[in-house]
Amino acid sequence: MSESMKAIVVERLGPPDVMELQHVPVPQPGPGEVRLKVEAVGINFADVLAVAGEYLTRTRLPYTPGMEFAGTVDALGEGVTGVQVGQRVASLGGRGGLAEYAVSPAAALIPVPENLTAAQAAAFPVSYFTAYHGLKTLGHGQPGEWVLVQAAAGALGTASIQLAKALGMNVIAMASTEEKLQIARDLGADVTLLQDDPERVQKVRDAAGGRGVPLILEVVGGRRFQESLDMAANRGRIIVIGNASREQANLRPVELMKRNLTVTGLWLTSLMSDQEATREAAQALTPLVASGQVTPQVGPTYALEGSARAFQDILDRKTTGKVIIEPGR
Ligand code: NDP
Repeated sequence: MSESMKAIVVERLGPPDVMELQHVPVPQPGPGEVRLKVEAVGINFADVLAVAGEYLTRTRLPYTPGMEFAGTVDALGEGVTGVQVGQRVASLGGRGGLAEYAVSPAAALIPVPENLTAAQAAAFPVSYFTAYHGLKTLGHGQPGEWVLVQAAAGALGTASIQLAKALGMNVIAMASTEEKLQIARDLGADVTLLQDDPERVQKVRDAAGGRGVPLILEVVGGRRFQESLDMAANRGRIIVIGNASREQANLRPVELMKRNLTVTGLWLTSLMSDQEATREAAQALTPLVASGQVTPQVGPTYALEGSARAFQDILDRKTTGKVIIEPGR
């Protein structure tokens, strides 16, 4: 095997074009780690924020983005058991996915069901685990209940719609274009609304039986956060998952009193250390994926050389489903 490989390297923070294609040494797996030949990398909004230096944690430079990827195990580090070279796996919490080879803790590997392609496997972990935790672990969603899904045609949005429907919930989907709303309808959304519909607050409240929505997956933030409060039902639960608008939101705690609202933050990275919650989510998700009841929605795919374009397209709201980069292409 060649000792060097192609990888995306970020040496300074900024817009997507700070990402450079370089030749770097192939990484060696340390104790408890495995190396993967990377076939597909799922790109999340978090990756775009990390390159810009706007993520929840500080971005340490230089680095290779890519925390969610799928491929074939190629080498085992010391002490790794229960994983074989040649096995198809996905990694949630590995590092440096935007490269021909990447290393992942063995504990972060997820076996890939036979019915999934590498791209589908790379589209799965972040969006579906987050959707599950938003709908169930923290959202306590019940069959027959209404849930509002924002950015509904995106990676998390499509996962949330499919999962909510599989759990017997009713979905109101919001997105910025008619084409995106059609994607939401095709996945089973019961009511769809343009994000800029001037009567959106009243329409959302009406759709959920006139009383507002009991559960909201809030990913846009900024001034939209106030609207989410206005759309919520009495005792509504608002799960704060993202801030795609990158705007400041103002929360006056007394606003929550009016309708006895609960606002809960959700960050998958910190929830993953909750082993019971992770096990419960995996137990619920595995049969749904294996049976095809939920299917990860693969969006546009790019070669490694197209990484900056892929990141820019996410920022420009041009993408639907999960953006995938294929380093071997
Ligand atoms: P998406 O595929 O959903 O892409 C982002 C979408 O956000 C866009 O397509 C767009 O949809 C919407 N959006 C709304 N306002 C803006 C704006 N001003 N600029 C850009 N996009 C905007 O990405 P992800 O599925 O990766 O993430 C969706 C959200 O969920 C993000 O906020 C992300 O940070 C969050 N997230 C959080 C996690 C956690 O652990 N807390 C885990 C996973 C995701 P539209 O055009 O329809 O408005």
